Amino acid sequence: MKKTDILIIGAGLTGLSCAFKLEKKRADYLLAEKENWAGGLARSFRKDGFTFDYSGHLLHLRWPETSKFILDSLGKNAKPLKRKARIYSSGKFTAYPFQMNLKGLPAKVRSECVEGFLKARRAFPEVKAENFRDWCLQTFGKGISKHFFFPYNAKLWNYPLEKLSTDWMGQFVPVPKTEEVLYGAYKDDVKGAGYNHDFYYPETGGINALPAAIASGVERLSLDSELISLNAANKTARLRNLGNVRYKKLLSTIPLKYLAEKVEKAPETVRKNAELLEHNQVYILNLGVRKCPLPQHWIYFPEKEFVFYRAGVYTNFSPSSAPRGFSSLYVETASKSGEFIDLKKAEGRIVKNLVSIGAVKDEDDILTSMWLKVPCAYVIYNEARKKALPELLSWFEKRGISSAGRYGAWKYSFMEESVKEGFETAEKLLKR
Ligand SMILES: Cc1cc2nc3c(=O)[nH]c(=O)nc-3n(C[C@H](O)[C@H](O)[C@H](O)COP(=O)(O)OP(=O)(O)OC[C@H]3O[C@@H](n4cnc5c(N)ncnc54)[C@H](O)[C@@H]3O)c2cc1C
Repeated sequence: MKKTDILIIGAGLTGLSCAFKLEKKRADYLLAEKENWAGGLARSFRKDGFTFDYSGHLLHLRWPETSKFILDSLGKNAKPLKRKARIYSSGKFTAYPFQMNLKGLPAKVRSECVEGFLKARRAFPEVKAENFRDWCLQTFGKGISKHFFFPYNAKLWNYPLEKLSTDWMGQFVPVPKTEEVLYGAYKDDVKGAGYNHDFYYPETGGINALPAAIASGVERLSLDSELISLNAANKTARLRNLGNVRYKKLLSTIPLKYLAEKVEKAPETVRKNAELLEHNQVYILNLGVRKCPLPQHWIYFPEKEFVFYRAGVYTNFSPSSAPRGFSSLYVETASKSGEFIDLKKAEGRIVKNLVSIGAVKDEDDILTSMWLKVPCAYVIYNEARKKALPELLSWFEKRGISSAGRYGAWKYSFMEESVKEGFETAEKLLKR
């Protein structure tokens, strides 16, 4: 039987970053990945001369150690960019974030939003609502909630907003001051608000350039090595193509819900807690098209008539994502986990939507397309998660198993956070 001190499951950014640190410390580790490529969601695909990602994967950097590591890894390939994001609603493009840039909306919609916002501010309650729906009404008022937050989030989460908790929002939902809302409603765009105003993207190679650079410093990566089952009592993992591997400590970066299902003879509480964890699924339609005239990096689409919640233009981050004179686009649609989606029908509707906003002239402008599926995309923040998550993580920790990363820790996080967690977990595993 194979033996290793530290077994890492999953070679996305979390697993790769952990392995990278362990390699530097000359630790005994093995990184096992189910697919025949590394990078997880930060993977890029080439088709007919176009480069596609799992939709826009942009590097919003905020912490000194990981920012430096990521930028050093990309070297000259790291391209700094300033956000050009818009919202398309009521037939108009307005600047992001919606709540701070009401100026371009039709007068009636703008009045509804401003009036509702001022009313909500005057009524500012002592106790903040704990469900997302009520929190929106308290924070932004009826108009902004009706025209953006409710329809957009309903499309993204596919979950009742009154059951969604508010502990995911942090940096993702900017809360403006009253004067900012008024300025943005009557004067000019409020620039630079929100967490994602500055970002980096690789000049060439799509976002995959990042995991590829990290993987070049990782020797013991075993591809096509899916974790089949885990004997937590004996500290043995059964892996496709590798057989049984005995470990002393384990880092799992695969979705926690599905890790629990792999545990042999898992106790009832583990199985029940895993069942409580919920998530949605995202289908991404990537398109290679004749020149797209839109100047934006990405656009949010709250309204129902649009099948997708967000769309973006890769070539506006990196012209090398398409042959000269062409553009590559992505469109993100979300649905309930496991729901059947008729992709052909969806594609037809998406193309009609894109033509209606001028992103493509007509169907003949589409040269190639590629659907990508993220079966576990956004984890649902609800009361059940609050209870089940700490119990599950602690059950695994007690058995020498750390579960980290966006899906290992079952959270709404981003690439830099995955790198940070990979590093921190490596330090933790070396100390134990
Ligand atoms: C639609 C979408 C858009 C996003 N946009 C951005 C963005 O713009 N900026 C940003 O910073 N972040 C973005 N993210 C988040 C980003 O993708 C993640 O934070 C990051 O890639 C997660 O890395 P990870 O290693 O934790 O997980 P993953 O990338 O999911 O890696 C887990 C790995 O485990 C492997 N695996 C699964 N099961 C097994 C098994 N049984 N055995 C072995 N291996 C297994 C998988 O193949 C995968 O390689 C986005 C996410 C989504 C869904």
